[in-house]
Amino acid sequence: MKPSSKHLLTRLFSHLYIERSILDHPKTHKIRAKFSESQVIVIDHYKEVFNRSSQSFAAQSNSKKLILARKEGKFLHEGSQYSDGFEHEQFFYASSVMGCLYDCDYCYLQGLYPSANTVLFINLEDAFEQLRPYLGKDTLVATSYDTDTLAIESLTHQTREWLEFAAEYEQLHLEIRTKSANINALKSITPNSRVTLAWTLSPQEIIDRYEHTTPSLEKRLNAVIEAIALGWKVRLCIDPVIYTENFDILYPTLIDRIFSLIDPKAIEHLTLGSFRMSQNHLRALKKLRRSDVAFYPYAVSHDMATYPESIETYILEQLGIKADEYLPQERIRTWQRQ
Ligand code: SF4
Repeated sequence: MKPSSKHLLTRLFSHLYIERSILDHPKTHKIRAKFSESQVIVIDHYKEVFNRSSQSFAAQSNSKKLILARKEGKFLHEGSQYSDGFEHEQFFYASSVMGCLYDCDYCYLQGLYPSANTVLFINLEDAFEQLRPYLGKDTLVATSYDTDTLAIESLTHQTREWLEFAAEYEQLHLEIRTKSANINALKSITPNSRVTLAWTLSPQEIIDRYEHTTPSLEKRLNAVIEAIALGWKVRLCIDPVIYTENFDILYPTLIDRIFSLIDPKAIEHLTLGSFRMSQNHLRALKKLRRSDVAFYPYAVSHDMATYPESIETYILEQLGIKADEYLPQERIRTWQRQ
């Protein structure tokens, strides 16, 4: 029998670290009950494990630990210049998980965090408290900005909590970005027209080469098809585009593949964007020496590394021409350095 995603998750985390102060939190009890085979270690603060010096991101990626903690301070951050706020009056991203179940070579988290382990902040109710004062205005919150919350939904139920919260506030819009195929987590939830599920899609060759442990393109596309059938609003994101020697074949073929299966009218937007990263994160990525993505001769300006302008323009023009075959201009969004 095929193991369920819940069992895969509990097998993935061999060790569970728990902050002493949240041992009695109801969510801690629920999560702990799923880890009967994992070693449980009580700690005073997540930084004892997560911020330890001389950790190996590469080694930890193959044997991740889960750390349950209470977030002190801000859950919400202003949306960054690297992402699209879709013209909402206010744009935040929420940081309720540190680290990601997946392991993409181009991910800036490798440069941001000292560890590949996952910290799950269980006091999501405090994020909602922090957000409430802003909800008199049109507001977008990206709930899965620097992790993939849907990938660990069976453990955390954070997506469900966000959706329940969003149902109460008419000015609140959510974007849930994912590479996950975990559509089952959404089947018992009524779709909300202010919530967009945004799937990142890449050619299978790029997934094999750079997006380790993520679901295949076919699984993601099947999840998209199911989400649309369930009534969810869906955005497709070919972002970040990785410029490889086969770019001219891989990415246009991806767009054809997508729209051979999915009715273009059924999606809200197609987002196109090429690889970009802050220079500091890129430096950290180079030190890890894990992938050729880090060593491309990027153009750096104002602390942002991107492909040289001529290549970035070429990528977006080529993909724009292909996307035009299926979608009107107003539903194609592109990210390009200003
Ligand atoms: S899925 Fe996103 S957050 Fe997770 S490792 Fe990949 S790029 Fe990073």
